[in-house]
Amino acid sequence: MRIEELTLREIRMKLVAPFETSMERTEVRRIILVEAKVDGATGWGECVAGESPFYSPESTDTAWISLQDYLWPLLKSREFGSAAEVWDLMGHVRGHNMAKASIESAVWHTEAVQKEMPLWKLLGGTREEITSGVSIGIKESLDELVAAVKKELAAGYQRIKIKIKPGKDLQQVQRLRQDFPRIKLMVDANSAYTLEDWPLLKQLEGFYLMMIEQPLGWDDLYSHIELQKKLDTPICLDECIHTEEQARAAIELRACKIINIKLGRVGGYTVAKRIHDLCLQRGIPVWCGGMLESGIGRAHNIALSTLAGFTLPGDVTASKRYWEEDIIEPEVTVSPQGTIRVPQGPGIGFEPRLERIDKLTVRKERLT
Ligand code: MG
Repeated sequence: MRIEELTLREIRMKLVAPFETSMERTEVRRIILVEAKVDGATGWGECVAGESPFYSPESTDTAWISLQDYLWPLLKSREFGSAAEVWDLMGHVRGHNMAKASIESAVWHTEAVQKEMPLWKLLGGTREEITSGVSIGIKESLDELVAAVKKELAAGYQRIKIKIKPGKDLQQVQRLRQDFPRIKLMVDANSAYTLEDWPLLKQLEGFYLMMIEQPLGWDDLYSHIELQKKLDTPICLDECIHTEEQARAAIELRACKIINIKLGRVGGYTVAKRIHDLCLQRGIPVWCGGMLESGIGRAHNIALSTLAGFTLPGDVTASKRYWEEDIIEPEVTVSPQGTIRVPQGPGIGFEPRLERIDKLTVRKERLT
């Protein structure tokens, strides 16, 4: 295999409603799409880096530079046997996992197209249907939060995750448990707390949460080890896990009992699969997190979620929860039972809508 051409596009997409976490409030996404031509086949990837380096050190702008100036030169005119080898070819660049994942996943897409099979089957996926949960941003009032949860449950979603931060935590969970005693409920702090806050996090245990996601420092494994000793509720790590080695350390040192795998955060399918395999072997459930993706990234998340270890509902939801109009055909839809049918067509199983993508594009670079 050889990548003949890479086209980078930055598109701007306005969310149907602003999304607020402990780190930031997002209204318009700046998304880099990567279109790879490999031996005549075309594949697409999405870079999930945010507009600012608040979730991770990468941003849309750093990813563009990294793709254009550092990653493309490493891949240009290189021959390789399969998409699984692309990760190693980019090894000279440290970090920049989201930029790497966007190319790597595009090449996996082309390999599936060449082999005329669905990408999820090429990856070794086994599920024909995945279960879907939602992530609900921080709301001004408790009533607003309850209304949002009600709406998502009515749409069929199987688990509710709410974003929390200091001052918007205990009361929120308490109220939801009072109104919805039986739902699958979890919280995500995006690193908003420190180990000293453990008594407050301990109080959350009274509300039988499925897990507490990334309560402490984004790169602080030690504090999570200490916190997990104090809590019965499983800690799920997100931001802390960028590599297979970190996943191994987190499991061996008991920093968490669950891992959220995001394709972008770990650099693509090759590492995501390794982390998945490790977790499966060690009895650690995993699920697929979301990054406010367009349809391209969403399609990749569906493929990833078909692997056997993804036993918990992920953040992969219907296109219309985020976008007035998505950039793929058909759009991603969720059944009234809160599931997504995995597409059976070759590649990612959804067609990029080129006209719509062109309309949303604010910059474009063809690398040959
Ligand atoms: Mg998270």
